[in-house]
Amino acid sequence: MLFKDIIGHGALKQSIIKSINEGRISHAQMFLGAEGSGALALALAYIQYLFCVNKTETDSCGNCSQCHRIAKLMHPDVHFVYPVALSKEKGVEKSSDLFREWAEAFLDDPYLSLGDWMDFIGAENKQPTIAVEESKDILHKMSLMAMEGSYKTMIIWMPEKMNLSTANKLLKVLEEPPDKTLFILVSESAQMLTTILSRTQLTKVLRCEEIEIAGALIKTHGLSQEAASAIAKACEGNYRLAQMMVKGEVDAEFNMQRFQQWMRVCLNMDGLKLSEWVNETATIGREKQKQFLAFTIKTIRQSILLGLNYPAAINPADQDFMTKFSPFINYENGAFMVDELNDAYYAIERNANAKILLMSVSIKLHTLFPQRRKTA
Ligand SMILES: [Zn+2]
Repeated sequence: MLFKDIIGHGALKQSIIKSINEGRISHAQMFLGAEGSGALALALAYIQYLFCVNKTETDSCGNCSQCHRIAKLMHPDVHFVYPVALSKEKGVEKSSDLFREWAEAFLDDPYLSLGDWMDFIGAENKQPTIAVEESKDILHKMSLMAMEGSYKTMIIWMPEKMNLSTANKLLKVLEEPPDKTLFILVSESAQMLTTILSRTQLTKVLRCEEIEIAGALIKTHGLSQEAASAIAKACEGNYRLAQMMVKGEVDAEFNMQRFQQWMRVCLNMDGLKLSEWVNETATIGREKQKQFLAFTIKTIRQSILLGLNYPAAINPADQDFMTKFSPFINYENGAFMVDELNDAYYAIERNANAKILLMSVSIKLHTLFPQRRKTA
């Protein structure tokens, strides 16, 4: 993974390169970045740069034997830990049981989300976990001598999916690391043991800039400037989502239609229509539900801006609905709604029961609307 193949993050890349060249390599690091920010790709680019024997001031060479093997995820001193769906029947109890699948999924898209990974291994409805069996494997791999005499490295993706006993065992390794080891934890949320957080050096990976996403879409997908800018604006810094939009896997029209139906039933609280809406939305699958909730959050934010007379980028086809809808949203109830919807997004990601969740969110949204109810 070369730095140049990762969208944006110019300043961060420079600071990583500088720290490696100055020998400031903290043995336990945390790359914290939202879905689609490229944090996982950056972690691998970090390790490749550390190992490359012909590195330049700006990147790994991409040609030496270290670079070749890392790029194929075949380097003996570069290990990965990631959540899996535990299965006795399939003999899956730790990451290495699914390494071939992991390599295939990551090489296909280094911006993959946890949902993509679970779909890839056919575990859409199972709980992604880094279980205690993993900690033995971590200890074993990291206590061996480095095969190439340099660092032993391990990228732990989604450490927030570790159960408590795994986390405690990892903590012990982080406290007393074997010589020449490097752990990079790549997380989307800092919701994990604070003791682990306190043992790692934090690197925040920000969301990608619109202009960088647009540039990448033009270059890799041959989009026009106009189309690329529209997607870059809509994806809110999530490059994975941007790519899905290009492939037509996210249907903005479908989301807007569903959003309008939802807001109408929440405003008027028609029980029958609400239960129809909830039942239907519960069947669209976890990834589409997440996309829909992200769309809803974005649209509520736009309504807050409209109410404050700030310019918001509204699709002309939705202008009419948004003008009628925005008076129902003000700064205060809008902020509460966004909090609720954010919680719902993460609950869906953690496999919450969609029907129960959507019903409960709908009722909360209803109570947050002003008392004078009208059909938007
Ligand atoms: Zn190289």
